[in-house]
Amino acid sequence: MINLYSDTQSLPSAPMRLAMSRAEVGDEQKGADPTVSRLIATVAGLLGKETGIFLPSGTMCNVISVVTHCGRGESVIMETQSHLMRSEAGGLSAITGAVPEVIEGEDGHFTAEQLTRHFQPGSRYTPRTVLVAVEQSCNMAGGTVWPTAKLAQVAACAKSLGMNTHMDGARLFNAVVASGESAKVHCQGYDSVWVDFSKGLGAPFGAVLCGTEEFMSRAWAWKHRLGGAMRQAGMMAAGCLYALENNIERLEIDHANARLLNDGLKRLPFIKVKHDHPESNIVFFNLVGTDLIPETFLKRLLDRGLKIGFVGTGYRAVTYADITAVHINDALQIIASVLDELDEKDLIIPSQTTTGAAPRSCR
Ligand SMILES: *Cc1c(COP(=O)(O)O)cnc(C)c1O
Repeated sequence: MINLYSDTQSLPSAPMRLAMSRAEVGDEQKGADPTVSRLIATVAGLLGKETGIFLPSGTMCNVISVVTHCGRGESVIMETQSHLMRSEAGGLSAITGAVPEVIEGEDGHFTAEQLTRHFQPGSRYTPRTVLVAVEQSCNMAGGTVWPTAKLAQVAACAKSLGMNTHMDGARLFNAVVASGESAKVHCQGYDSVWVDFSKGLGAPFGAVLCGTEEFMSRAWAWKHRLGGAMRQAGMMAAGCLYALENNIERLEIDHANARLLNDGLKRLPFIKVKHDHPESNIVFFNLVGTDLIPETFLKRLLDRGLKIGFVGTGYRAVTYADITAVHINDALQIIASVLDELDEKDLIIPSQTTTGAAPRSCR
């Protein structure tokens, strides 16, 4: 099975497991796990922040950041397709009580001018906007990378409006490798920022949220309230440290494989790729000229040994360390063979093909 469903499908490698098994551990809840402390210091150093906290997941980093920055009834601005908005089981409203305000971005980015337009200073009847959240890279936009100048403009604009700034850096290191600019440069001007270790970095678990000492001490209370204070978490932190030391530079291979996949897809009939050149490790495409529903297409691929996803607005395939160029060529062959076997009832006449959007099931 070639699994391109997500980079979350990456498996811890043998040397990573070995490093985890040998980790020095202690009581993380008391700040006494040396491996966790080392991980936090390393990540904070890379991001240029004072300190951090170790959390089980990126979702927990996002919800803790929002609840620490925002009071109930205050608003947070984010891009409409952001993970925080769409993929966290509504934790934003269920836990934080903050009001979401969404911006329709382009490739997942938005401008300082758009931020200004959506900002509300608060009044007797409007929610006060206190936070802006950005995602680097932008998952649902196709792994697109905010230009660092645009990130800096949005942060500066937010500060001039008196707002706090948050970066969901689930795939920040993919953005770092794609742009050639350091993590520090990416998250300069962002009060809170976190990175995920369970995506392309290949660890089984863990994320580190960073910010000032003062912010992190308030965030720690929320970590504890949500049950995220741990005990001998050093075993998990050791996997993350291993990833930092060994798995960042190799992300370039994943990006090359995403380009290989995208180039192959462009040559196939019935396929319209979202981007001519994927910027990182995520490829989106749609089917055109056929009314095959996603469920059917995905099942036909799966029957031949390829797993991809249908999320948001299209089919998504994601590359990571366990995926090689050979897998990508095999995946392309599987997709080609499924398309080759489309029969007349799967096809729609060209004049009806007006959009690049995949037909959706009404069932
Ligand atoms: C995966 C992801 C998250 C959530 O991270 P988990 O560790 O899976 O909870 C948040 N934001 C983005 C952009 C993601 O891709």
